[in-house]
Amino acid sequence: MSRHTKIVATLGPASSAPEVLERMVQAGIDVVRMNFSHGTAEDHKARADGIRAAATKFGRTVGILGDLQGPKIRVGKFDGNKITLAVGDNFILDAACMLGNQERVGLDYKDLPKDVVTGDILLLDDGRLKLEVLSVRGQEIHTRVLVGGELSNNKGINRQGGGLTAPALTAKDMDDIKTAAQIGVDFVAVSFPKSAADMYMARQLLRAAGSNAVLIAKIERVEAVANLEEILDASDGVMVARGDLAVEVGDASVPALQKKMIRLARDRNKLTITATQMMESMIHSPVPTRAEVSDVANAVLDGTDAVMLSAETAAGKYPVEVVESMARICVEAERSAEVTLDREFLDRVFTRIDQSIAMAAIWTAHHLKVKAIAALTQSGSTALWMSRINCGVPIYALTPDADAVARMALYREVYPLQMTQQHSDRDRLLAEAEQLLIDRGVVEKGDLIVLTIGEPIGTAGGTNTLKIVRVGEHQIL
Ligand code: PGA
Ligand code: MN
Repeated sequence: MSRHTKIVATLGPASSAPEVLERMVQAGIDVVRMNFSHGTAEDHKARADGIRAAATKFGRTVGILGDLQGPKIRVGKFDGNKITLAVGDNFILDAACMLGNQERVGLDYKDLPKDVVTGDILLLDDGRLKLEVLSVRGQEIHTRVLVGGELSNNKGINRQGGGLTAPALTAKDMDDIKTAAQIGVDFVAVSFPKSAADMYMARQLLRAAGSNAVLIAKIERVEAVANLEEILDASDGVMVARGDLAVEVGDASVPALQKKMIRLARDRNKLTITATQMMESMIHSPVPTRAEVSDVANAVLDGTDAVMLSAETAAGKYPVEVVESMARICVEAERSAEVTLDREFLDRVFTRIDQSIAMAAIWTAHHLKVKAIAALTQSGSTALWMSRINCGVPIYALTPDADAVARMALYREVYPLQMTQQHSDRDRLLAEAEQLLIDRGVVEKGDLIVLTIGEPIGTAGGTNTLKIVRVGEHQIL
């Protein structure tokens, strides 16, 4: 079963046991997300070791994504851990309160009272509860409950319409960036960025910590939607972070935004992850709802690189079954999609030699109906460009660089393979590539493939050659 769309699974208590992790790897996870909102640096290191061991055991590539907490604004703790608010109740968010009760609760972001005004709507716990601001008095925000319910310790707060001033990278995030670098994560996600500047800063901190991780901007603020293009330019990819995004922009705006983000990202050679509540009911149920099946399939049809599981795999009852279900839905959606090289392909503008070869390979592979594309690449950029076009031919990206293999785990329709030998001789390299594809059962004697390679061998960004090969006619070794 070959699946083009990648699956990101969040790790947590439900997916900590080695045997569960192994079964998730077998079920097809491509990237794991470590949520830095929970757990210590030691927990994350142990998780990384666990997932690497499981991936090695089954000969699979599983990338690691470190997701920074960012300035998520939360209520404090309650005496008794939770309260229940009813419609019409008065309730105070009090920056000075230490332990909450039925009347008031503390805030981890002490400046929140400065950011809100009378009439604002505050949404708690991913929008489950709704409060209207009646007045702000010093450190206290006085509100009336519009939608009630249970409110427990440390639940998040958003303001409808956005506009909170908390900076994107907190002191904790800066520490976590160092942990991420030590672990050697392949991807880092920045939560709540507002602008390109937030992403430049994150990249600088990452590089200073010695990490070359792929940088993902989580689009979950109103401001980020307004600055989407500059954020895309400053990042390697975006996450459609539907949880917080829905609260800030209104849930009904999210589906169209998802489509727009994926389209813009692909046009700019950037990656996309579609996230949150994709298979939410499977936290408790062994089967998804019809709506969830449609949601995952539609994200696939939108062209997302990856679909993500959050609580489903971190805290749910069916961490393996949910991956299996998601994989099955992706494959079926991919099969149903019509593959045409659309007009946008012809309109793509590029000036680089390596990119020209990548586009020529896609054009050729599509029309010649070859079995596979084999991109011999150093950094993986050739494979990234190819994968931005839906041409219906799988892209096998062969590289000697283990880090590049892990990065490409997120690229749609790209199957990264590590070359074992470092040849400087072109013909030997091509022969090894061909043999790898035969060994993997991808091609057999007589099949046509399109190969791309850079000469001289071994320079990043050096792809300059396109070759059409009939498998088995290369008798070099
Ligand atoms: P979170 O981000 O799970 O870290 O909140 C994703 C989202 O908001 O959708
Ligand atoms: Mn979020």
